[in-house]
Amino acid sequence: MSQSALYATFARADVAFERGEGSWLYTADGDAYLDMMGGVAVNALGHAHPRLVAALKAQAEKLWHVSNVFRIPEQEAVAEKLADLTFADRVFFCNSGAEALECAIKTARRYHFVNGRPERVRIVTFEGAFHGRTLATLAAGGQEKYLEGFGPKAGGFDQVPFGDPEALDAIIGPETAAILVEPIQGESGVRPVEPQMLRHLRELCDRHGLLLVFDEVQTGMGRTGKLFAHEWAGVTPDVMAVAKGIGGGFPLGACLATEAAAAGMTAGTHGSTFGGNLLAMAAAGTVIDVVAEPEFLEAVRAKGLRLKQKLAGLVDTHPEVFETVRGEGLMIGLKCRKPAGEVVAAMRARKLLCVGAGDNVIRFLPPLTISEAEIDEAVHRADAAATDIEAASRKGAAA
Ligand SMILES: *Cc1c(COP(=O)(O)O)cnc(C)c1O
Repeated sequence: MSQSALYATFARADVAFERGEGSWLYTADGDAYLDMMGGVAVNALGHAHPRLVAALKAQAEKLWHVSNVFRIPEQEAVAEKLADLTFADRVFFCNSGAEALECAIKTARRYHFVNGRPERVRIVTFEGAFHGRTLATLAAGGQEKYLEGFGPKAGGFDQVPFGDPEALDAIIGPETAAILVEPIQGESGVRPVEPQMLRHLRELCDRHGLLLVFDEVQTGMGRTGKLFAHEWAGVTPDVMAVAKGIGGGFPLGACLATEAAAAGMTAGTHGSTFGGNLLAMAAAGTVIDVVAEPEFLEAVRAKGLRLKQKLAGLVDTHPEVFETVRGEGLMIGLKCRKPAGEVVAAMRARKLLCVGAGDNVIRFLPPLTISEAEIDEAVHRADAAATDIEAASRKGAAA
């Protein structure tokens, strides 16, 4: 692997996949892995979903890309779908989560600028947040390990501890523009923000004239069993970043905003060469149509409950390996007592794919199309992996 010409930025597992189908990934040798990480919440409809493949093929034969200097009816249609299904009136398409966040941050600052409050530039964020890897989103996330060695931290971000209303009150000042939060923190370990806290943030924003920005890059597009996770709390943001699942595997990000919040984003203030590419629109239109069906979301909730309950059972049977289970829908975190990296590797040895997170948590982010039988099989494999870990540590203790 050291021979690879790639940047060494990823600590990659030494396994490669050649094709996928539904919740399964296959190596060139034909080994089948049960995919409980879905490309980190990207493959919302699993692999090679027939409707997604058909939509992409049909578009590929017509037109791939036209510049955003032209009207793109397919883009308008997908934006319309999102607006109909959410709080939003306006959508900006880009290519990733970090880009969606960049647009959200610019939208919030610009809102105050055009409303005669140009001093309002600061964004309040939360410890443990992850908003992407661009210079601004790294500053928003505030995690030292990601900022080190990359020069001056982009200014204008104030971070408060997770779930500390007093610190929040204290940090809001005359220069505050917005509060930015993930309804469930993903990368830092599937840490849900309490619904009453989200409602409190909405009240704070209303009281101080701030914009509320939700990062639903990981929690959105049906992941938690609602189209967007904030629906659980019954509050809506002014601006929202979406990506990961929305393209079902085709790179796409979107920044959604109310008419008022987006009012400052006039011609020339923002742009993207690839954003809203026709292939991406074909994929996203299909993903949205499938996921937004009430029965589909109902099934995600039922399957999520099944997975969570069965994993809670594993916590009981393997108390040396697992500690607690948390999360919503098909965004489930299993906090481990053994190092999460070892647990992920043990599961991979049992041909079960999950992904690590902060707080010594492993995440299950399977395709939303996963079947109940596949969930049972995943838990069965996780059980076997935990037994392997226990056997290895008994051996280690005996040696
Ligand atoms: C993955 C993620 C991002 C960054 O998305 P990229 O597409 O990798 O830029 C931002 N916010 C959250 C909550 C994420 O999970």
